[in-house]
Amino acid sequence: MDSLFIFFSFIFGLIFGSFLNCLIWRLYEGESMAGRSHCRSCKKIIHWYDNLPVISYLLLGGHCRYCKKHISWQYPIVETLVGFLFMLVILRLKQEFGSMEAWNLDQVLILARNWFLVSTLVVIFIMDLRWYVILDKVSLTAVAVMLGLNLYLGFSWQSLLISATIGVSFFLIQFLVSRGRWLGGGDLRLGLLLGVSFSWPEVLATIFLAYGIGALVALALLAFGKKHWGSKLPLGTFLSVAALIILLYGPTIINWYLNLINWR
Ligand SMILES: [Zn+2]
Repeated sequence: MDSLFIFFSFIFGLIFGSFLNCLIWRLYEGESMAGRSHCRSCKKIIHWYDNLPVISYLLLGGHCRYCKKHISWQYPIVETLVGFLFMLVILRLKQEFGSMEAWNLDQVLILARNWFLVSTLVVIFIMDLRWYVILDKVSLTAVAVMLGLNLYLGFSWQSLLISATIGVSFFLIQFLVSRGRWLGGGDLRLGLLLGVSFSWPEVLATIFLAYGIGALVALALLAFGKKHWGSKLPLGTFLSVAALIILLYGPTIINWYLNLINWR
């Protein structure tokens, strides 16, 4: 039975990824979510059979049926990515809670919460990577949802306050020192989102991991001559990747690190 749940979480992730693609474009261009999907070039309505996650992209060879314009790689990549992430989230929780058939309502809610966080992080990842923006509509909505759910699930507000303070102040200090040149207000609100989503050791682990990944990517880009010193890099993209890794493997990574430095 569990394998059926895992399979369906992958399928659900594919479909939800398709919705997120649509959300990303419409948020960026300020379009409403109402109205049917249309080709970004010729504006023709896309029929359901041309709108199946990944499959339609492959069948159409990555081109619009009508105007033959190339369809962005973002579509199949995000769909597949969200499919795998939804599946990894459920597998991770299965380790903690045991067989899904015996999950109680709170445990199902934790699954929904983690899927929501994953979806938010994927949206921030893509938008910051492509356009260097983290929209308040995305980050602040997610802060409200995560805060509400975590309080409902019985997390203490004191510990949420501590991790939120750490999440925000880390970026606030840099923001003030650099007078907004190193990072933007969007990063501050992402820090707040991390704070209301994770415990404080996880917030710190996410930040360190993000800077580590960022440094490696920056070095690689410099080495291949794609960027030069002082080029802008999307901090939100690195933070999203790090937060996804911590969400899925946080306790394992933190324990490994503490053992490494002989903390215990
Ligand atoms: Zn078209």
